Amino acid sequence: MPPVPPLPDFDIVIFGGTGDLAKRKLLPALLQRFLAGQINPGSRIIGSARDALGSASYRMKVAEAVTTGSERIASDRLSAFLSLVDYLPVDVSSEAGWAELKAKLEARPDRVRVFYLAIGPGLFAEACKRLQQFGLDGPLSRVVVEKPIGHDLDSARQTNATLANVFSEAQTFRIDHYLGKETVQNLIALRFGNALFEPLWNAARIDHVQITVAEELGVAGRAGYYDTAGALRDMVQNHMLQLLCFVAMEPPYSMDADVVRDEKLKVLRALKPLRGEDVRQYTVRGQYRKGVVGSVTVPGYAEELGAEQSRTETFVAIRAEVANWRWAGVPFYLRTGKRLAQRVSEIVVSFQPVRHSLFGASAGPLTPNKLIIRLQPDEGVRLGLMIKEPGPGGLRLRRTSLDMSFASEFAGQRQPDAYERLLMDVVRGNPTLFMRRDEVEAAWAWADPILAAWAQDPELPRPYTAGSWGPTAAIALVERDGRTWHEDLEDLP
Ligand code: NAP
Repeated sequence: MPPVPPLPDFDIVIFGGTGDLAKRKLLPALLQRFLAGQINPGSRIIGSARDALGSASYRMKVAEAVTTGSERIASDRLSAFLSLVDYLPVDVSSEAGWAELKAKLEARPDRVRVFYLAIGPGLFAEACKRLQQFGLDGPLSRVVVEKPIGHDLDSARQTNATLANVFSEAQTFRIDHYLGKETVQNLIALRFGNALFEPLWNAARIDHVQITVAEELGVAGRAGYYDTAGALRDMVQNHMLQLLCFVAMEPPYSMDADVVRDEKLKVLRALKPLRGEDVRQYTVRGQYRKGVVGSVTVPGYAEELGAEQSRTETFVAIRAEVANWRWAGVPFYLRTGKRLAQRVSEIVVSFQPVRHSLFGASAGPLTPNKLIIRLQPDEGVRLGLMIKEPGPGGLRLRRTSLDMSFASEFAGQRQPDAYERLLMDVVRGNPTLFMRRDEVEAAWAWADPILAAWAQDPELPRPYTAGSWGPTAAIALVERDGRTWHEDLEDLP
């Protein structure tokens, strides 16, 4: 991997520094950037939560968290990283610990300060209020928040207003970790770094687009949160619409953050609203029942929740449309769910069939070209083509694919986690891959009427067996249009 220039010394305070996100994502990402030489030894990582830990015991927790992976880290490098780490008990909901935090930060006044709110969204307002009260909201401060940004348009507006009371939009970083994935940035490279695709990237040449984010996991451990959210709020309103934006946006005139985000915003605003009867026709919500995932029998959602029944959807399929000149009439099928047959996230762009076939029936069927952008597992890009089957005799055609797996193309290079790039972008002050306030609100404005129609629907979500591809109605949603879901990763397009 090309060397990365080190960033000027900075401080990052992780509120919620003992929580799951900090341990699984943030601290390992900071370690990797330190090992890569991007974080100088003068920078400081300050974990914080209510727990009255000492710095030494926090460092032990951090060491444990960052060494759970398969990668072996040399002990001197780990010690060097841990020497950047400190801990301060701070209660976001009271004044406890704030004066100490202020004193620590003010010892190094002229550096970027990142405040990562890895705490429940119910605490964002209090955290911002205290940051302001203690004068920690200066121009070099940046605040990072995780989804969910609200649970509907009104609450998202409130959260955004809370943040905006204290921090300018340029200081506010709303993370959607999907945007830190290499493949998502590659979508931009692919579309705008090649002359090949752009002339074909429209309703005249593209038949439809599918975006799938399928998980094998259920909700165990997160059932309490999940039951208040559901798949539309948890996945579609943020991650999937962001992916859709990168597929559908017009070429931005530069890579300037606001230029890119302006183009994404136009896509969100062009999404055809789904209301009332449209919701019944173009959306499917489901909930998993007991079944077999891999070779393991798993309980149904309600059982995991410990409830008799629940109205929360663990699966959504939606036929969306981007109502603008480029995309009019092209369906964007979105599908996401838990306890599905396979863990896979991919974008499939299906081109129109060839207009006239030269080949007789003996040549076999002509399959339309597909561009498959795979986010996980095994990030990569595949282009499905028709070729002649080798050998003498009649001309027979067969499907094949140009296949580029990042793992094999860049063998020997580690694939950085999305959080590594995003955290360094926060320090650099580059918000291109973060959601702007108006984007979040435009996404909710589209999602809200769907949620409202579901709330009115007396029916429960359609059941599906864990380990399947969701309710049969989701298959019908696509088949009604004479199309099918692209399902098997190994099946050539
Ligand atoms: P978590 O495991 O429950 O951790 C919460 C953290 O907040 C703990 O360190 C907790 O420590 C601290 N905390 C709670 N109340 C506090 C207070 N009054 N003052 C200061 N610290 C307080 O939560 P998480 O899973 O890490 O999630 C954190 C945030 O990221 C949430 O907004 C969540 O929605 C979002 N998120 C998480 C993930 C993920 O993968 N985990 C994914 C997407 C989004 P004490 O109780 O000791 O104070």
